[in-house]
Amino acid sequence: MTAKKIRQSFKDYFENKNHKIVSSSPMIIKNDPTLMFTNAGMNQFKDVILGNALVKYTRIANVQKCLRVNGKHNDLEEVGHDTYHHTMFEMLGNWSFGDYFKKEAIEYAWEYLTEILKLDKDRLYVTIFEGNSSEKLERDNEAANYWGKYLPKSHIIDGNKKDNFWEMGNMGPCGPCSEIHIDIRSDEEREKVDSLTLINKNHPQVIEIWNLVFMQFNRKIDGSLENLPQKVIDTGMGFERLCMVVQGKASNYDTDVFQTIIQAISTITKFSYGQNSQRDIAIRVVADHIRTIAFSIADGQLPSNTKAGYVIRRILRRAVRYSYTFLEQKRAFIYRLIPSLVDSMGEVYPELIAQKKMMQKVIKEEENSFLQTLEIGTKLLNKKIQEAKTKNKTTINGVDVFILYDTYGFPLDLIKLILHEQNMKMDKASFDAEMSKQKERARNATTIETGDWIVLQEGDTQFVGYDTITTQARILRCRKVKQKNTEYYQIVLDKTPFYAEMGGQIGDSGQLIDSNGISISIIDTKCENNLVIHIINQLPENLYDTFNAEVDARKRRATECNHTATHLLHEALRLVLGTHVEQKGSYVSSEVLRFDFSHFKKVTEKEIRQLEKIITKKIRQNIALEEKRHIPLVEARRLGAIALFYEKYEENVRVIKFGSSIELCGGTHTTSTGYIGNFRIISEFSISAGIRRIEAITAEKVESFFYAQQDIIHNAKMLLNHTSDLLQSIKKLISENILLKKQVETYNREKTIFIKNQVIKTKKQTPSGINLFILEGFFPASIVKDIAFQIGSEFTEKSYFAAATVAEGKPLLTIMISNDLVKNGLNASQIVREASKIIKGNGGGQSHFATAGGKDINGLPMALKEILNKVH
Ligand code: ATP
Ligand code: MG
Repeated sequence: MTAKKIRQSFKDYFENKNHKIVSSSPMIIKNDPTLMFTNAGMNQFKDVILGNALVKYTRIANVQKCLRVNGKHNDLEEVGHDTYHHTMFEMLGNWSFGDYFKKEAIEYAWEYLTEILKLDKDRLYVTIFEGNSSEKLERDNEAANYWGKYLPKSHIIDGNKKDNFWEMGNMGPCGPCSEIHIDIRSDEEREKVDSLTLINKNHPQVIEIWNLVFMQFNRKIDGSLENLPQKVIDTGMGFERLCMVVQGKASNYDTDVFQTIIQAISTITKFSYGQNSQRDIAIRVVADHIRTIAFSIADGQLPSNTKAGYVIRRILRRAVRYSYTFLEQKRAFIYRLIPSLVDSMGEVYPELIAQKKMMQKVIKEEENSFLQTLEIGTKLLNKKIQEAKTKNKTTINGVDVFILYDTYGFPLDLIKLILHEQNMKMDKASFDAEMSKQKERARNATTIETGDWIVLQEGDTQFVGYDTITTQARILRCRKVKQKNTEYYQIVLDKTPFYAEMGGQIGDSGQLIDSNGISISIIDTKCENNLVIHIINQLPENLYDTFNAEVDARKRRATECNHTATHLLHEALRLVLGTHVEQKGSYVSSEVLRFDFSHFKKVTEKEIRQLEKIITKKIRQNIALEEKRHIPLVEARRLGAIALFYEKYEENVRVIKFGSSIELCGGTHTTSTGYIGNFRIISEFSISAGIRRIEAITAEKVESFFYAQQDIIHNAKMLLNHTSDLLQSIKKLISENILLKKQVETYNREKTIFIKNQVIKTKKQTPSGINLFILEGFFPASIVKDIAFQIGSEFTEKSYFAAATVAEGKPLLTIMISNDLVKNGLNASQIVREASKIIKGNGGGQSHFATAGGKDINGLPMALKEILNKVH
């Protein structure tokens, strides 16, 4: 059975059992501060499980793209070394929200595996929760009994809290679980070693394939458990592992899920898979990581320096590191695997096809830049090694290694490898000390302590902000948040006009006014797990009061102008540059709008004007907003709404239409384009390979922008004697300036020769036969320097030039000494430094030529005397 058929059979089976088949949510999570990546099929149902969102279907099944590379689930270091953990993998799952529970969950899993896929019953084992006395949790006898219908007692194993009590994170839904394991070793091996001794022991052929979670509790921040409003079934089965079992292979990488990619790696690197264990690890790492990177980019997450982007960058670097070290790849090649990946997975995940070119470009650029780091790092490290070796040392300083690792991003294992090859070590203690300092810094910067919600009143928030910016409201819940040294509160209202930061638009701010007229500022509004959270610095006196919630109108209106303008810009870009332009991100505030999009070259000045013209024309046409709230996604698409590939949309969506601009959007907008008033692009630049950013302003901001420009022009005209033709005047000024410069040069040259000759004429000799050349008077510093050097080259022996001059009102000392005198011990730099004290200045230079500036002109004669005193 091919992977494709297995995936389909799962969906078909659960559809037959009345499950709604939903699509995978994006792998990158944008609106949840507690989670960066989807790490299980249940993530997209978190709100439903927590009771923050309504249950639309009580039975659901899907295939979810997951990523386990940080936080509670982090399998990164296993990947490549074992054959059954991936960074990105597909999880097959079925859910029941208050519908069926343990009995049916077990029945379905058993039937699907043994009747549909016909797995050997004798090789299946299950684990159940043994209970935990300190938390007063009982053994899951219920699950054990249901399994007893299908399996002998010897195949039902008790498991501890770590393996059989599933938790999403430190807080949130949890409950006992039951895992299904399979032993796929040969019969002889099974004879020799009992399967029971290998379960949960990291044996590559005795592995867990499916986990059935029976969620019945919610863990609170203080660690205590409370019952969930409704019981939930949440199951997850690793698709790649299932393919291995069904296809009778010994490793996930031997299935058709990975074979195309592995062959492509072999073709490029000329190393075939299965020949050498070290190289096989590297091949597996690359085969695994290319999927993660490609899916992330397709989901809109590019490698970068912060947060999720940084995690992705590190994964890519891990792949480069392995292929650099073990597959002899010194040049970028991972991007060349994209076509094979798209071939093998594009049909199921069309976002890969759409983003193919983009993925290649981004990956290639990342690879190249990291390879460069490796090259620079290797050089630096070798230099440190050489330095240590010349001092007969065998260890190098841990601080140096840390800098290499931290500042240059040079991987630690590669450092160790290079040191090992050169018979060197690093001083671990000093490295560890730096590392812990760094961790401390990071911890201080990020710890946020969030208290439990205090629920004052049950209920959901009604958002009224599309229609009004003030309303009466009551507080539903509140909690305290501590971050670094500050404390603030978050509150949820029963009704709110406040727009929570989402879809690139910033959150509203405003006031909460109590019945006595006392107001509290709402600093920001954010969205978390479907809750609209208002951020305030202090709690109102009476939490149960009825308040007036008022949005800051000026800021909201300015933001709306920028949001509507963003839509017009999006449409205009596709018109002017082409339909390859896709939104890659946007930021809309009251000050500015920012729009990121795919495009491979700079947007020209001409194109920028075209964009501005199209948009300002639409503003003048004063096109009215047509808003469609809550229409089915299919209908929105039929209307021609632009949807983003990587966004997950609800079944019912909101459509924002201004004439021919039609977008799916949850943001707030002006009621007609006329309010925008004006639009100007203020910058355009590249933010990463193939992605450009436009920043623009609207309304009053444009007015201020133009006034500032006008003032510049006006002032320039004033400076040029109130000229009426500014350009002509500037041109004239430039050509006059060129002419004057030439004249000054000629004049200076002539003057230099004249003065130099004067100096030579007045040359004196000391008793010991040294020629003294002295210059005093008002001269530009450049002339003095020229004279010094000319005399220095004409009189190469026994010559001593000393100048005490004034340039632009400041005293200047200059000394030039011939080399024979320098050899005899005279040092111009030293002499000038001493003498400069007299003119209240300082200076220096080389031993044959030095200068010093100062503040006190009156000191010049004394300083000169001091200088001349050095020779006799
Ligand atoms: P394991 O102990 O093998 O790491 P887990 O207990 O972390 O698994 P769950 O969180 O229960 O796994 O996830 C459900 C299923 O997803 C597992 O039974 C397994 O088949 C699959 N799975 C989990 N992690 C990975 C991974 N990193 N790569 C591939 N499949 C995975
Ligand atoms: Mg795990």
